[in-house]
Amino acid sequence: MAACRFEEVSPRVDRFTPDERTDRPVLGAIRGTAGTLIVDAGASPAHLDAFLGELMARDHPPIVSIALTHWHWDHSFGAAASSVPVIACDETASALAVQAAYDWSDAALAQRVRDGLELAFSLPHILAELPDRSQLEIVIPQVTFATAHDVDLGDTIVALRKVGGDHAVDSVVVWEPEDRVLFLGDALYQCLWSDTPYLTIPGVRALLAQLAAFDPAYALEGHDDKVCDATTYAARIAELAAACDLVERLGDAAVAETEDGSDLAELVGYLLAGR
Ligand SMILES: [Zn+2]
Repeated sequence: MAACRFEEVSPRVDRFTPDERTDRPVLGAIRGTAGTLIVDAGASPAHLDAFLGELMARDHPPIVSIALTHWHWDHSFGAAASSVPVIACDETASALAVQAAYDWSDAALAQRVRDGLELAFSLPHILAELPDRSQLEIVIPQVTFATAHDVDLGDTIVALRKVGGDHAVDSVVVWEPEDRVLFLGDALYQCLWSDTPYLTIPGVRALLAQLAAFDPAYALEGHDDKVCDATTYAARIAELAAACDLVERLGDAAVAETEDGSDLAELVGYLLAGR
């Protein structure tokens, strides 16, 4: 997989593509006449810096703030690369305060993996992305909100809406209404904080109900190489609903109704694990 690439999504929105080698997620930039809002701070200051460099080279309006989609390290630990305010929901800020108080030495990090406070999956990625953590600065968001916050960029008002879900209870989506771009972060993904990754039917149903407020022309998932157009996004949402229907109706027998190795089979597997 290639390194992160700068990509135009719509006239007002750009993104930095993900890089699975160190689990770098998608970063976004939404620009209006009053400035540019960054979506997610990235896995390390080097990650965010690389994206900011691309934006600067294009003479885009100055960065005014960074919005976080959730607290996970790969979306938040890059914030120190910029001095603009970080905006997040209350739970994201609390979770980052916990992370900021931790000892980030190799030994302490390895112990947290053993204690179930850090994912074994993340450990090699953290070590590769942040090899020297002696000066690690985890920024605690300065602007916080309970469920909704708007960022006025002049000719567009960007909506931050907390949607929660199984992946992270603090998941927030970022909506740019003029070009109809929706940043989903990792909201649609399964919960990884368990021996078996899982989704729950109530969690997925509640999430889909919240997302029904948006009709994106472009939807961006946190670790997806591609941008979804309206049709692909509708299919993704429909598949999540279909998986819930199947598991509700058939329980374990739902597996037999799906094609081996398909996305639907994977979703059914997560939902069965989450019962
Ligand atoms: Zn995540």
